[in-house]
Amino acid sequence: MCPKGGRGSAGKRPAQVASFLCYNRGMEFFEPVEVLKGIGPKTAETLRKYGIRTVRDFFYNLPRDYENYEAPTSIFEIRPGKVVIKGRIDSLSTRRARRRNLSVTEGVIRDKTGAVKVVWFNQGYRVKQFSPDKEYFFTGSFELKNGRYSLISPSAAEVAQVDARTGLSPIYVAHGSLKSHDFRRFMAGAREKFDSVPDLLPSVAPGTRKKALFYAHFPSSLKSVQGARDYLAYEELFELILASRLNRRENEKLRAVSIPFRAEKVRGEFVAGLPFKLTGAQRRAAWEIFQDMEKESPMNRLLQGDVGSGKTMVAAMAAYEAILGGGQVALLAPTAILATQHYEGLVEILGKFGVRTALLTGATKKKPELKKRISEGEVDLVIGTHALLTDDTEFSRLALVIIDEQHRFGVEQRQKLALKSPAGLAPHLLSMTATPIPRSLQLTVFGDLDVSILDELPKGRQPVTTTILTEVDSKEKLYPKMREIMNSKPDAKGRGKKARGQQIYWICKAIEDSSAGSSGEVGSRGGSEITSVKKRCKRLKEVFPERRVEFLHGKMKPAEKDAVMERFSEGEIDILVSTTVVEVGVDVPNATLMVIENAESYGLAQLHQLRGRVGRGSSEAFCYLLTSGDLKPSRRLLELARSNDGFYLAEVDLKLRGPGEIYGALQHGALDLRIASLSDTKLISRAQKDVERFLKNPENMVKYKELMEGITKYQQITTLN
Ligand code: ADP
Ligand code: MG
Repeated sequence: MCPKGGRGSAGKRPAQVASFLCYNRGMEFFEPVEVLKGIGPKTAETLRKYGIRTVRDFFYNLPRDYENYEAPTSIFEIRPGKVVIKGRIDSLSTRRARRRNLSVTEGVIRDKTGAVKVVWFNQGYRVKQFSPDKEYFFTGSFELKNGRYSLISPSAAEVAQVDARTGLSPIYVAHGSLKSHDFRRFMAGAREKFDSVPDLLPSVAPGTRKKALFYAHFPSSLKSVQGARDYLAYEELFELILASRLNRRENEKLRAVSIPFRAEKVRGEFVAGLPFKLTGAQRRAAWEIFQDMEKESPMNRLLQGDVGSGKTMVAAMAAYEAILGGGQVALLAPTAILATQHYEGLVEILGKFGVRTALLTGATKKKPELKKRISEGEVDLVIGTHALLTDDTEFSRLALVIIDEQHRFGVEQRQKLALKSPAGLAPHLLSMTATPIPRSLQLTVFGDLDVSILDELPKGRQPVTTTILTEVDSKEKLYPKMREIMNSKPDAKGRGKKARGQQIYWICKAIEDSSAGSSGEVGSRGGSEITSVKKRCKRLKEVFPERRVEFLHGKMKPAEKDAVMERFSEGEIDILVSTTVVEVGVDVPNATLMVIENAESYGLAQLHQLRGRVGRGSSEAFCYLLTSGDLKPSRRLLELARSNDGFYLAEVDLKLRGPGEIYGALQHGALDLRIASLSDTKLISRAQKDVERFLKNPENMVKYKELMEGITKYQQITTLN
C-alpha cells in the first residue's frame, strides 16, 4: 500500500521503485473519470457538470442510502404493503396522464409463480433501464390504485449487480440523465480501481480509506457500511477541524484597522437613548465585539442568538462604533425583504446620530450614483443583498462587514467582499445566525470563529404558546382561534397602520399541487396529504370571505415578494399563506398566530425558526402545528410544544437525529457536512485530538499534500481572505 498521497511522492529520487509504484497507483485515483470502464466523453461531460471530474470525485459520490433486496417474496404470495420481488419485466410503456405534468410508466413483472402490474410516475427513463432477458429485484409498496393492485414506484436493481449474500444495493442520487442504476453500473466497472486509493490521514491504519470507500459502494453487510461511514465521517471532521485551526492562524496574521471604543458616545448617547434596556446578553456580546474591533487583527466573530434575542441591536452598536471610528460598514442580508427591513430599522436607530445609510438591492434605482457615493465614502452604512457584492461596488474605507444569517451566503460571495477592503487591511467580520449550534459542538466545529451568544430574551417577551392539532380539529379549534386573533386589537408594537386586528401566518409545504410519485426512487410513504400554498389560500378565502388573504412563495419575482411582504407588514393582509420563505428574520410584531401545516415534515431547528416569526410584539402569541390525524405526534413536535429555548431544542435535535441516517446530507448553518453528523461527539473529539497532534509537526503540512489541498474548500467558508 502506498503510504501517502500519490502526487506528493511522485518526484522523489530515492526509493525509485517503490515511489514509481506509488505514483502509478496513486495517480489513477486523480485521473479523469474517463479512465473508468463504460464512461465515455459524453457521460464524463455530464458528470463534470455535477462536480465529478476525477476517479476520486467518483468514489466520493457516495450512495445516499441502500436498498435491501434480501429475501424476496414470490409473486404468488405477495400481500399489500412493502414488498421485495425478483423477476423479469415486460410490456413497459409510458403514457401521459390526464393530469398535466404527469407521466405514467407501466409494465408487468413476472416470476415463476405469477405476474403483477408495476407503475412509476414521472420516471420515463425506466423504459430504457430494463432488458427483457435479465432478472431484477424490485422493492416498493404493493397497493390498491385505481381499483387495481400494483407495485407503485419501486426501486429496482439488476440481480447480477446485487451482492448475493447481503441483498444490499446502493442508491445514488440521480445526476441529470444519469440515474442510480447507471452509477451502479459504472461502479461495477470501477471495482478494481479501488486499489489506487491512497491513504489520506496519518492517524488511521494504512488502507482504511481504501476499504471505507470500497465498502461504501460494495457493502458486504450493514456493519461494513457503518464502518465505512465512521471512517468517512472521521475524515471529514478531521479536514474540517484542521481547516478551522489553520484559518485561525491565517486570520491572526492579517492586519485590520483598530477601532477604539468610545464609551461616551456608545454608552452615553446611543444606549442611553434606546427606548428599552439592553439585556445582559446584548451587553456582553457588544462588549466582546468592541474589544475585538480595538485589536489590529480582524475580528472573526459569530453572534448566535435565538430568534428575537435582539441581534440587530447588537449589530447596530457595532456598526455605530465602526462608523465613529471613521470606517464604512456593509451589512448583508440573505433576501431583499430582510435587507429592506434592516434598512428601515437601522435608519430609525442610527439616523439621529447622523449616520448616512443606504439600501442597495436588485430593485434599487439609480445604482451607479449610489455606488459612486459609496466609493467616495459619502455613505457610512450600506445594507443590501448579494447585489452589494457585484464587482463594481467599491468602498473607500470598509471597516466592518456584518453578515446576517451567514449560512445563506456562499463561499465566493465572501471572497468577493474581501477584495473590497482598503489596501492591505481586512475588514472586521461579524456573522449573525439564529441557528443555535449546541454548545458542546461550538468549539470544535467553529474553531476559527469567536462566538458570542445571546441566550436571554428581552424583558416582557412571552413564550409562544404552541399546540399540536390534528387536521380534523381545524374547524372546531383553529378557525375560531383565527377569528379571535383577527378580531383582537392590533399589537402596541405593530407598525402596520392599516391593520384591522392581529395577523396570521399560515405555512405550507408546497407552492402548487404536485403530481404523485414525482419524488423519485422511493415509493409513496402514505401519511398526510400536502396542501399547497395556492390551494390553502383559496380555501381560507372561502372560510374567511371578509378577510384579506394572500400568498407568498419563493418562486415569485423578488419585487412581487417584497410587495406582498410590505403589505403584510403594513397590516393590509390578515392571513399570509406562505412557504418557508418567511423563515428568516422577518419582523412583523402584529403577527401573533402561526399555523404550520404538515408540521411533521420539517426539522426541529426549522420549526423553531418559523415559530420565531410570531411573539415579537407585546401581545400573547400562538403557534399551531398541524399534523395528519393518523400519526402520533413525533418527539420533535412534542419538544417544540414544550420549549421555546433554541439552545435546548438544538441539543434535543442533536440527540434525536442520531447516527441513524447513514449518508443523509446535513445542512447546518455554515457547515455542510456531507457525511459526518453533528451528533458524532466521540468522533469529533477524536478528530480534534488527532488534528492537534498533526499540527505539532510542521512537516506534515508539506507531506500530506492531498489533505492540505482538500481543505481549502473549508478554508474559504469562514474567512474573508
Ligand atoms: P433577532 O435576534 O431575531 O434578529 P431582533 O434584533 O430583530 O431579533 O429583535 C427583535 C425585536 O426586539 C425588535 O423589534 C427589537 O427592536 C426588539 N429588541 C431588541 N433588543 C431589545 C431589548 N433589549 N428590549 C426590548 N426589545 C428589544
Ligand atoms: Mg434578525
